[in-house]
Amino acid sequence: MELSGLLGTSFACDCGKTHHVPVRRFVYGSGVIDSLAELVPGSCADALRVVVVADVRTWDVCGRRVEEVLQTAGIAVARVIVPDRRQGGPVCDDITVRPLVDQLRGVHPDLVVAVGSGVINDLCKWSAFQLGIPYLVVATAASMNGYSSANVAPTVAGVKLLIEARPPVAVVAEPSIIEQSPREMTAAGFGDTIAKHQSTADWVANHFLFDEYYCRFCAGIVTKLEPLYLDRPEDIRDGKREAIGGLFKALFWTGMAMTLMGTSAPASGGEHLLSHTLDMMAETRGENHDLHGRQVGIGTLLSAALYQRVLAINSPALIPLPVSIDERFWSVPSVVAAVAEQYGSKRARLEPIRKKITGHDAWDQLRTKLAAEVKSPETIRTWLQRAGAAVSMADIGCSRERIRSAILHMHEIRRRFTIVDLAWLTGVLPGQVDHLIDAWL
Ligand SMILES: [Zn+2]
Ligand SMILES: [Zn+2]
Repeated sequence: MELSGLLGTSFACDCGKTHHVPVRRFVYGSGVIDSLAELVPGSCADALRVVVVADVRTWDVCGRRVEEVLQTAGIAVARVIVPDRRQGGPVCDDITVRPLVDQLRGVHPDLVVAVGSGVINDLCKWSAFQLGIPYLVVATAASMNGYSSANVAPTVAGVKLLIEARPPVAVVAEPSIIEQSPREMTAAGFGDTIAKHQSTADWVANHFLFDEYYCRFCAGIVTKLEPLYLDRPEDIRDGKREAIGGLFKALFWTGMAMTLMGTSAPASGGEHLLSHTLDMMAETRGENHDLHGRQVGIGTLLSAALYQRVLAINSPALIPLPVSIDERFWSVPSVVAAVAEQYGSKRARLEPIRKKITGHDAWDQLRTKLAAEVKSPETIRTWLQRAGAAVSMADIGCSRERIRSAILHMHEIRRRFTIVDLAWLTGVLPGQVDHLIDAWL
């Protein structure tokens, strides 16, 4: 079935579940902004008052045009420009969302129209959800897969959280805008998309070891789109229309797979932990971090290298995970408490599955399943290089010490089991950390 036919429907999946697709419209096409007013009533019948939310850059890219189109159609439009933070753009955290919620509450709109990519989309999804208002997003970059997701990943009191929210009623984008967005943003989207090959293996491991729910349809949702950007990754670097369009659609549908499952399992695994950890380190130390997808690309390379080493082990003798987290590393009390809770919960879950890893034939069964999903680090590195994405720790602004610290603490931040835990259990980490950095990062 054509994926677009699933929009706004519920369908019975081969996995046995009925999946609900909450996004009603997804339009990637020239001139879609000019017909935005037609989408608004279709998306939300009584959308008479609209707030357009942008930052200073996305306002110039197409925010002003969005406002004009809606005003011309007779819709009352208010405007919120989210302020920049530090030297960079806005940040999705509790400090930024509070005044945004207050501004939206003051207008009490029928619809929020987000004009932007990662941060603006997340801020609008989060604040609109808090106020129970639907939102629509006019995307300005193929930089991440969060447009269609039901979650927001903000920083609250220094801790990177995953907060449940509601997906937009519609996602629209014009190819010429996406193609002209900064190259590193498109390359970031590429990094976020290829993470899927590693995160699916983590999902399979969780299915095998913890009976986590697994859906083949959601895991393979973008398989048919992949040739558009993976056969010739340099088309992403060169801004070729077909490849960028394929990537944007893949980002939309990988985000949707997370929404269908109600978890981030289809598109996020151990590779994402590196990016989250770097973000948290930046937050607690007052430093900057790179784009999510650029960091995830490096995390995907690391995950592939970890899988390669772990799967080469013929009969693992499992080593206990360290008893507790490194409190000095996380330093801020609220962060220490949140990380310790996640880690403690994970350690408790690991005890019962030891036999599932080392039992008769179990390791070979698991290895075979995981090997069928993962890509080699050589393949990942070549894809990233050809797409013009970040390929080394230096590219994402990390010193050796910084990336080493992130690798050695990334297993502490989440309860969910990933390749990073398997690497610790099998002794690949921490022992081979320097070797991994030398070989791959
Ligand atoms: Zn399913
Ligand atoms: Zn991601």
